[in-house]
Amino acid sequence: MRAVDRKRLEKLLKEEERKFFNEHPKSYQHFQRALQSMQGGVPMLWMIRWAGTFPIFVQEAKGAHFIDVDGRSYIDFCLGDTGAMAGHAPEATLEAINNQSAKGITHMLPTEDAIWVGEELQRRFGLRYWQFTLSATDANRFSIRMARHITRRPKILVFNYCYHGSVDETFISLDDEGTPVSRIGNLGPPVNPTETTKVIEFNDIPALETSLAAKDVAVVLAEPVMTNVGIIHPDQGYHEELREITRRTGTLLIIDETHTLCTSPGGYTGKFGLKPDFLVCGKSLAGGIPVGVYGFTQEVADAFWSKIDIDQSDVGGIGGTLAGNALSIAAMRATLEKVLTQEMYTRCEKLADQYEQGVQNTINSFDLPWIVKRLGFRVEYWFRQTPPRNGGEANRAVDSDLDRFMHLWALNRGILMTPFHNMALISADTKEADVNYHTEIFREGIQALFGKS
Ligand code: PMP
Repeated sequence: MRAVDRKRLEKLLKEEERKFFNEHPKSYQHFQRALQSMQGGVPMLWMIRWAGTFPIFVQEAKGAHFIDVDGRSYIDFCLGDTGAMAGHAPEATLEAINNQSAKGITHMLPTEDAIWVGEELQRRFGLRYWQFTLSATDANRFSIRMARHITRRPKILVFNYCYHGSVDETFISLDDEGTPVSRIGNLGPPVNPTETTKVIEFNDIPALETSLAAKDVAVVLAEPVMTNVGIIHPDQGYHEELREITRRTGTLLIIDETHTLCTSPGGYTGKFGLKPDFLVCGKSLAGGIPVGVYGFTQEVADAFWSKIDIDQSDVGGIGGTLAGNALSIAAMRATLEKVLTQEMYTRCEKLADQYEQGVQNTINSFDLPWIVKRLGFRVEYWFRQTPPRNGGEANRAVDSDLDRFMHLWALNRGILMTPFHNMALISADTKEADVNYHTEIFREGIQALFGKS
């Protein structure tokens, strides 16, 4: 099997950076101007980590494509890291946005659409009651607060290298000795997260048993399949054990479906019949308009209700003036009803099969020690031979230079991949030709890196 020639990689990466610089003069000009008013020249600091030497600025986007300010067009497999899974500017969502915005955007009062959405979320995910936020981060934060309030327990438990948005408690990881530490890059934590959080590896049942035995954990926060350090599937039977142990120890369970919604219209939970106490989702539900939702069971609702004072319900750290606003709710109704349908999922799965096959064929023909991983219509390749079983293993397999090269090679040829691993999401609007083009460009990139197959 072939290994990457690091010198060759370094040389190719430099060439791609030069090509990127030369072909994006307007984005560069924008970036220089942006540096005068935005820190790092970007709206959010993490955007400086895109594979180019500066971010490309978007002119407009439609469906599975966008055009940058230099007039270059791209196939978008990043899709706003799932925010645009319904395709950019989907017609049904646009129509609802236009209609609703003419009738009022935010009122601090519910609209009938909110009931429709609540009923639809019940149908898709099976949980009884729903509340709305403007981000999945907030939906996670509020679920955690409810869980703490109900159980009167101080801690939460998360998995090594998870990501659930900028939720303070989650920025914790295991160091090389397996000791929980504040995660590298964790900015200004309110307290050291080891005080609020236990962290263990995904797929580690004994560690879960031990951590929950003390009965000081209010809630486990989990993606059903990890997606933020690459796709990591649960072992056979893992979810059953997770549920049994959490129940036995009086610990609640939040399943965060923000990314795994690509598994089915009801997410991984809907497809595999999980029974969480809370379910969180966001990003794509309103076609890109900011929204998050969290649902919970009748038991959770009863326990919560008995422990709150309704007169004080506007006080306790669960809120958001704009949450549940008429515009985002109307956009969510239209997107759920007309875009994120079973028919769309069937079509996207087929395209994901085709994408996966294209990448796998190249890996085979070049005899690379790489694998392709798949979840619904999310596909990614990994620079290791076997699937990682947990976040620690996955993180050790990260090859930043190789990642950067593959991203930049694709970007310079009109394909945007999800940062910061090589993940692709299919959208409601992606076409066979888009996938075939990726297969071709991927093969050429591998050829540049390894020579002839
Ligand atoms: N949950 C998961 C699983 C996520 O991947 C993310 C963001 N990548 C979030 C929550 C937070 O989403 P947002 O940034 O839209 O709040």
